[in-house]
Amino acid sequence: MSGLDGAMSIPDRYEPAAVEARWYPEWDKRGYFQAEADDPRPPYCIVIPPPNVTGSLHMGHALNNTLQDVMIRMKRMDGFNALWVPGTDHAGIATQYVVERQLAAEGKTKEDLGYEGFLARVLRWKEESGGTIIRQLKRLGCSCDWRRERFTMDAGLSRAVREAFVRLYDDGLIYRDDYIVNWCPRCRTVLADLEVEREDRDGEFVYIKYGPLTLGTVRPETKLGDTGLAVHPDDDRYRQYVGQTLEIPSVDGTIRVKVVADTAVDPEFGTGVIKVTPGHDPVDFEIGRRHGLPIRTVIGFDGRMTAEAGKYAGLDRFECRKRIVADMQALGLIERIEPYRHAVGLCYRCKTVVEPLVSKQWYVNVKPLADKAAAAVTEGRIALIPETWVKVWHQWMEGIRPWCISRQLWWGHRIPAWYCETEGKVFVSRTDLATCPSCRRPLRQDSDVLDTWFSSGLWPFSTLGWPDDTPESRTFYPTSLLSTGYDILRFWVARMAMLGIHLMREVPFRDVYFHTLIRDPEGQKMSKTRGNVVDPLDLMDKYGTDATRFSLISIAVPSVRDVRISEERLEASRNFANKLWNAARLVLSNLEGYDPDAGAAGSESVADRWIRRRLTLTVADVRQALEKYRFNDAASTLYQFVWSDYCDWYLEIAKRSLYRPERPAARQATQHTLVTVLEETLRLLHPLMPFITEEIWQRLPHTGDSIMIAAYPKAAVPEPDVEVDRFVTLVMGAVSAIRTLRGEMRIGPGTTLDVRIKPHGDDVVVFTQHRALIEALGRATITVDAAATRPKGSALGVVGASELYVALAGIVDVTAERQRLEKEIKRARDTIGFTRTKLGRPDFVERAPAEIVEKEREKLAEQEALQAKLTASLAWLD
Ligand SMILES: [Zn+2]
Ligand SMILES: [Zn+2]
Repeated sequence: MSGLDGAMSIPDRYEPAAVEARWYPEWDKRGYFQAEADDPRPPYCIVIPPPNVTGSLHMGHALNNTLQDVMIRMKRMDGFNALWVPGTDHAGIATQYVVERQLAAEGKTKEDLGYEGFLARVLRWKEESGGTIIRQLKRLGCSCDWRRERFTMDAGLSRAVREAFVRLYDDGLIYRDDYIVNWCPRCRTVLADLEVEREDRDGEFVYIKYGPLTLGTVRPETKLGDTGLAVHPDDDRYRQYVGQTLEIPSVDGTIRVKVVADTAVDPEFGTGVIKVTPGHDPVDFEIGRRHGLPIRTVIGFDGRMTAEAGKYAGLDRFECRKRIVADMQALGLIERIEPYRHAVGLCYRCKTVVEPLVSKQWYVNVKPLADKAAAAVTEGRIALIPETWVKVWHQWMEGIRPWCISRQLWWGHRIPAWYCETEGKVFVSRTDLATCPSCRRPLRQDSDVLDTWFSSGLWPFSTLGWPDDTPESRTFYPTSLLSTGYDILRFWVARMAMLGIHLMREVPFRDVYFHTLIRDPEGQKMSKTRGNVVDPLDLMDKYGTDATRFSLISIAVPSVRDVRISEERLEASRNFANKLWNAARLVLSNLEGYDPDAGAAGSESVADRWIRRRLTLTVADVRQALEKYRFNDAASTLYQFVWSDYCDWYLEIAKRSLYRPERPAARQATQHTLVTVLEETLRLLHPLMPFITEEIWQRLPHTGDSIMIAAYPKAAVPEPDVEVDRFVTLVMGAVSAIRTLRGEMRIGPGTTLDVRIKPHGDDVVVFTQHRALIEALGRATITVDAAATRPKGSALGVVGASELYVALAGIVDVTAERQRLEKEIKRARDTIGFTRTKLGRPDFVERAPAEIVEKEREKLAEQEALQAKLTASLAWLD
């Protein structure tokens, strides 16, 4: 036990910036963040969702990484061998896009630099900006084992990517196929279905005469690629044409199309006839395959019309659309044009309209993997929290389609496939191949790279050394927790589960916690275009890191998908930190004569025993909340305990005993309780607010070098203590009653109230014993009298079975007060009735914007609470 050195020197104000800047490097230097594979203690492991290497910290990162840090610090203190693996992602399309934009600003393209030159440029950009997010995570207090920092394109992880590709290929799960893909003509790459955003736009539905038939389309330019017409097999209107090949006069000569019958056609839509353009539409592609229709590609990868488009060759696809409509109109081939609002697919990165095109791509047949990932959740080997995501998980796994993994980018993992052009052979290999193993001629490597999610899908085990059998993977795999946003459940979580189960033969994580997404105070999603982005670094500067963390933790409600963050919340958290600091100052300035080794020696007061008991219960609640990922509950429980129980109640009571030098044993016991309860509270709070807790803890009597490696408080069931129970009910109950009345009747703190207590049975002993305390805390004069009767014009309070009369004559006009309360109750009741009726109307609830409905619900809850409060106030006067 160290002494009280520095205790008296605690500064008046808490200065977060100085404290944060001092402790983080100190913890890091002392190796507290480090975990070893051969540590015999039970393992606990989290791998960080890798942020983009060139990114910077946004609110989502701040929230998610705070929550992970809470868990890892708690487990570390709780005796686990806790490892948090950090790292970053190369973010293929996102990073390439940023660098290409930089080049564009210099009037250059990536082609000007060439493949090698461009990669060098990206790497330089990574070197310049790559450290930013790591520094920001440190600023946030993240206790990652930085020695183990990984990058998805580092040598080890690149080897893991190749190994995974080769194994899946050898297992027959990776194949190459001609397929219609979502193509971004701007980014010049294929996009996964998930990477295409849908947006409703106004367009035109053009009805074109097709010989004897008429059909509608929103993309007339693809008409040049038509190789068939399709009708529903049961559609009697067109039965006579099925199987025929029609010669159709068109804008560029005559075209030949075959009429096929296919159930994919909706006979109710348009004229019930669709043109089949297998080269430019996913549904048509499938119809074309089923009926053997040829593919004619009229739009190229650059978004311009190809030579196949005849006289339109070279035109931009949208320019061609206008031109072809005009030409068809001139030839009388258009029956009519109608305005039409429809969903358009956009590139999630650059918002260019996606063009469906046919090309050869690499795929993973994920269905067999998905079945196992679904089973892992069903069998409880992976727990999804909150449970609402289980249904989404199963739906996704059930309907999953082949995963297109090739991307036409330069920045990423090159696909480890080599082609022998002479023999038409493909070789997939762990090592680079130069010449064909069979004909010895030079080979050409596939120029595509892998989807970024392919490498991040290996993250939980590639970071632990896979494909090697390392001590780290043996100790820490499966990892304990994955914390992530629900928006990447399908992109990332599902793929890690599938690849982990297949390649490691075991799930990659036990618990998956989906955190909420953060919105601005108006409930809008934060986006740069809306200009409502809150920068977590600004918040840390303004309010301190602990207050920022505490605010984020407070809004991490598992069942709520989107939460709002407001300045008020941050201010409240900063006030909380200051409250704790001031409490510590008060304790530290009252330790004169205190002997830490002497303990309480059985001299504790009932209040000393009460606060210790409250702490015991708080420890149990906080532990349970954290184990269940109810982070907001852990925060509010701690807030309540520190603010209300410790500061507002216990410190006020303790002060009285501290100033009684004639009772040294009681004084020592109270000092001891003040110190030890605060010390334990700091340990309980440390994972949430690491900096301020360390700073105060170091100034208190403590065991060990740092709170970071001190024991997390253990939950216990408190011993029954009747005296404490009666103290809470009667003494604290009486003070609360007086304080509540004061608030409700709006009586200022300067007015001393005259209170008579009529005790029930032996309550008289308790009231008499603590009369002075009730007087001090309630700002009242107390008369305890078993024969007391209620004076005229007084308020009535009930405490346990005892009664309490507060004289109001001369302080409050009881008649006017009663009228005021009755009037306000009526007003609240009217509003409640009106709002309930409104919310009961289905047309309002279904049609009004969600935030308006939500506002009405909030209003209803507010008015109901107000009504209850006013009714309670009125009861005082009855
Ligand atoms: Zn794009
Ligand atoms: Zn060959």
